[in-house]
Amino acid sequence: MIPVEEARTAVLAACRPLPVETLALGDALGLVTAEPVVAPEPVPPFDNTAMDGYAVRSADTAAAPVRLRVAGTLAAGSAPEVVVGAGEAVRIMTGAPMPPGADAVVMVEYTEAAGDKVEVHHAALPGDHVRRAGEDLPAGEEVFPAGTVLRPGHLGVIASTGRAAIAVRRRARVGVLSTGDELADPGAPLAPGRIRDSNRPTLLALLRQSGCEAVDLGRCGDSEDAIRTALKAAVERCDAVLTSGGVSVGDFDYVKVVLEELAAGTARWMQVAVRPAKPLAFGVVERAGAGVPVFGLPGNPVSSMVSFELFARPALLAMMGHTVLDRPRVEAVADEPLARRPDGKLHLVRVVVDYAGSRHHARSAGGQGSHMLRAMATANGLALLADGTGVEQGGSVEVMLLS
Ligand code: AMP
Ligand code: MG
Repeated sequence: MIPVEEARTAVLAACRPLPVETLALGDALGLVTAEPVVAPEPVPPFDNTAMDGYAVRSADTAAAPVRLRVAGTLAAGSAPEVVVGAGEAVRIMTGAPMPPGADAVVMVEYTEAAGDKVEVHHAALPGDHVRRAGEDLPAGEEVFPAGTVLRPGHLGVIASTGRAAIAVRRRARVGVLSTGDELADPGAPLAPGRIRDSNRPTLLALLRQSGCEAVDLGRCGDSEDAIRTALKAAVERCDAVLTSGGVSVGDFDYVKVVLEELAAGTARWMQVAVRPAKPLAFGVVERAGAGVPVFGLPGNPVSSMVSFELFARPALLAMMGHTVLDRPRVEAVADEPLARRPDGKLHLVRVVVDYAGSRHHARSAGGQGSHMLRAMATANGLALLADGTGVEQGGSVEVMLLS
């Protein structure tokens, strides 16, 4: 058996960054910028008012209350064609450009309209409620460095600089293939000995949640030929492939066999010192211009999810240019005993974590068998129990947070 860290390092070392492409902002959520973003235009593009009110010459209001002549109205979106002369004011709406002559805005709440005049109750200081051109982003300034993970606000900022597209590292297109003669799709009656294919919907969803494009490759039976044909087709259209099942020590576990053939030289069949998710087959299949990592995840539903978390997710994130590859971890108090037996492995216990009384608390999410997907679904964390006898009630435990 090899430690989790060693398996992870081997996987990460074999995965290469995906190419860069320029995408419309609407397609770039969650992707990583491949260029620094520089503002070609200042933001805001012109001096404008932050309030509805009156644009004034502040000196005219020093002796407030004062009456000023209203020389016009400026709505947001209009050009500042009216000039504010001495003794004058311009009615102005939030976002409208400051008219020439004015140096401040009086909020409408501090005024009273009186025919073609306005009474200003409070003196304004120069610059009051004026948003300056370039105050948020000066033209030419670097707004975000290359390597920024684009969240909704980033897309808004980039749009505010006038750009419609951005160079990013490509979203990984990742195929999911289930293997196993026993698998049946939901909806159809179950023949004797059959079970439902639950790994495929789970892995497809995990991929989408991780910002990848998920490609449903269906399922194939436990035959070398079927797996070979499916994998060969998969690597032609995908940046990476996940399979589930067929990597253990059973008589019909052919995924590892086929992977050794297709990914000659790089394929590894690892026994990782972790529970669940001990077996992992991994290799990079070369095709024109690219190496396609194939993750042979274990078949048990909890194992395939955990293996995805430990190995596939960090690798796919790295391929997409991310540098933060790991889920966050917290230290929690065990609200009940989290017992285990020594076996040389790291145990990942499905737990429910909450935050109360200034600390995190963890308790078991339910049945911990690797076929018991419900506890994994209910859990929002994996407690890391090092080899030994576990953690007593009230003891401290490190938890990897799942989202
Ligand atoms: P294997 O690694 O192929 O020996 O599979 C280990 C266990 O996981 C067996 O009990 C399989 O029936 C089960 N299994 C394999 N693939 C799936 C799947 N796609 N959905 C649900 N269970 C599966
Ligand atoms: Mg199988």
